[in-house]
Formats: sequence, structure tokens, C-alpha cells
Amino acid sequence: MLKTYSLKHDKREEVEGLLRAYNEILNAIIEDIWSNIRWKQVKIRGKNQFRLLPIYRKDNQFKKCLRDKNLKGWIYAAHWVDSALKTAFSIMDSWKKNYVKGDRKRVCPKARRLFIRVKQTLCKLEGDNLRVTTAPKSFVYFDLSKRYFKIPREISSSGIGEPIITLNRIYLPIHAPDKRPEPAIGKIAWDSNMLSLDGYSPKIGWVKIDTKALATVHISSFEKRRSVQREAKSKKAKRVLNKYSRREMNKARKHQLEIARVINSLAEVNGFERLRKERMYRRSRVWNRRVMRTDWRAIMRRVDGSTELPPQHTSKGCSRCGCINRDLNGCMFRCGSCGLTIDRQLNAAINLYLRMEGVPHQMKWWDKHILPSLVGGYFLTGAELKAPYELVRGLYEAVKPKLLYAYDRHADAYLPVPT
Ligand SMILES: [Zn+2]
Repeated sequence: MLKTYSLKHDKREEVEGLLRAYNEILNAIIEDIWSNIRWKQVKIRGKNQFRLLPIYRKDNQFKKCLRDKNLKGWIYAAHWVDSALKTAFSIMDSWKKNYVKGDRKRVCPKARRLFIRVKQTLCKLEGDNLRVTTAPKSFVYFDLSKRYFKIPREISSSGIGEPIITLNRIYLPIHAPDKRPEPAIGKIAWDSNMLSLDGYSPKIGWVKIDTKALATVHISSFEKRRSVQREAKSKKAKRVLNKYSRREMNKARKHQLEIARVINSLAEVNGFERLRKERMYRRSRVWNRRVMRTDWRAIMRRVDGSTELPPQHTSKGCSRCGCINRDLNGCMFRCGSCGLTIDRQLNAAINLYLRMEGVPHQMKWWDKHILPSLVGGYFLTGAELKAPYELVRGLYEAVKPKLLYAYDRHADAYLPVPT
């Protein structure tokens, strides 16, 4: 498991020149890649419109050409040019990924923040110091003695990924040995809701993680901030507001970590619905607040083996027959076609599970494989823990049957509920 730690440093004067030079060639390389893009016209399915998709060169000859160009007049170590080259391509790749999804515009990306990515060949761990080569035979030593994290002894410099250095901080990715217990279940699909995460796996049935405690952090912070905002727009009020949001972030992070740990201890592979927060933001202020309260993304980032699942009809589709139910009311999902009546969050979780496994909607299959797993349910709470793995132990104790009431319209009979 790779974790990134950050530390302040006081070597600004020694690294600023390199940071600025690096930023300059980084952006120059990005612009060169950009100007060599071939734009391919692709027809949009079902419409008489076209999209432009970028294709850019990644071959060694092109890379060598960029390298040689930027090495001219370069006074620092040559490896920095290689690092900038690598970083430029990863910036382009991430721009392209988001552009294809429709989240970015057709504008050349630019690295605005000053940073350098330190290649393994440019740094060495010497006791409590990280030695970084700036120019040939010229080094900067970063003092790591005041760190709050451990650097495992047995893995000296190989245990560190590529550090990132900014004007006042150093970010160290460290490979930590994985000490988690083996997860109990292979795969779970998670439906994200405002106040809970609803998971489903045939092995365990319905797992509900209560995230109200996390939502409360945001709500109470929101109320506090609002009371200050009303009072004044002074500098002091701004400082207080900043303090509140810092606190909110820290508290929320604790909960996110806790929830992610519970998920990690349950399953190896976790599927989440792909939610696009930036698109939801436009709806309304009330909605914005709600979305902010939920910390879907933050949790997902912290879950091992998380995969994103396409979001179409997750809550509107019947997990049993696949019919779309447009008017959803209350907490139960009622299918007008096959008659399935089921908790709507559970229905969504099953839909995601089927999508994760690539299983189409088939009533027979559903009745044989999904139904037997729905006789009981589990209820977990996402509150902070006193003892480690308390929740997981609680999982097997707190069995609360939820569900199930199902009527098969085609057979004109209730579904057999297994015992
Ligand atoms: Zn149905």
C-alpha cells in the first residue's frame, strides 16, 4: 500500500530556481505535445454531430526529440528533463481522459503550481536526510528527522516512491506493509446515499453502513459558518470561517477513513457508482449542500480495489426484470412489471452488483441467486470506533432482517422466501 506523507521544509531559496525552470520546460513540453495533436473526427452515436478526439505521439523518437530540445541550455541535472517529460505525458493523459468524458475543454492544459517530481535516480535517503541532486555534484538535503511517520528500516530508498517537492513542502510516498486482515468477501457493490452506504453481495446479502455521523459533521459546520457569515464580512470573520472549514475537513476525514476501513475489511473488490459531483453541483443550493455532506469520492479513494460502475438507471431500474420505474415514491421500490417490492436502496445496490458481474436482468437467475441472499440483513454504523475492527465483529452479531416482500405478477404469486 502506498501512502503519501507531507512535511514542511525550509529549503525554498535552494530549490526555487530549479522549480521555476522545471515548470517552464514542463509547460513547454506540454505545449509541444499539444501542437502535435492530430484531431480525429468521431461521429456521436445517434446524432448528426461530430466530436474531436485527440491523438498524440508517445513514441521514443518523439520523446527523444523533446528531451534534446529542452536539454539545450539546461543547467540542472539531465534527469530533471526526463522527469518533466514523464510528468508532461501524465498531465496530458489525465487531461485526455477527462476531455473524453466531457469534463474538460479543448484547451491545452497548463501546470500552474510550482513543483518537481524527484526521480529515484535523483534522491537518496541518508539517515534522516533525503539527499536530492539538483545539478551535477550539487545537492540539497531535506531534514526528515521531525517526521511523524515511519520509514520502514528494511526498505531504504526503494521503499520511497517519487517524492514531490514544492516551495515549502515535500511529499513522500512510502510503501507501507499491508497489515489488514483478509477481507471476508470477494466482491460487494455499494450504492451511495445521503445517509448511508448500501452494499450488496450474494454471500452476505444487504450491508448497510450508516454515514449519518459523517453528514452531521458537515451540517453542524455549515450552520456554524452561516451564523458567522451573517455577522460580518471582516477579515476576522474570514479567519474564523477558515478555521471552521479546516475543522470540518479534519473531522470528516476521520469518518471517511473509518468507513473506508470497514469496507476494506469486508471485501476485496468494491464497486461504486460513478457519480459526477461537479455535474450535480448545478442543481440547487439545497442539493449542493446535500452533495457536499456526502463524501462519496473521498471514501472511494480510500477503499482498496474500488472500481467505478456506470450510473444509468441504478435506482430506477428493477433489479429483477430490468424494467424502468420512473415514479419512485417512499423508501420501497415497486416494479410495475414483475411486481418486485424491495427497499429501494437495496434494489440499487443489487443493480450495481449485477453490473459489476456483467449479469443481465433475468428473473429466473434473480430468483435463484439473489433472492436466497435477501432473507437477512446487516446493519453497520459508520461512527468513530474505540477499538479496532469493532464494527466488523459487530457485523455478525447485529443481524437484523430487513426486507422482504415480493410479489410476482407474472406468476400471480408471492416469491418463495427461502428459510
Ligand atoms: Zn421488475
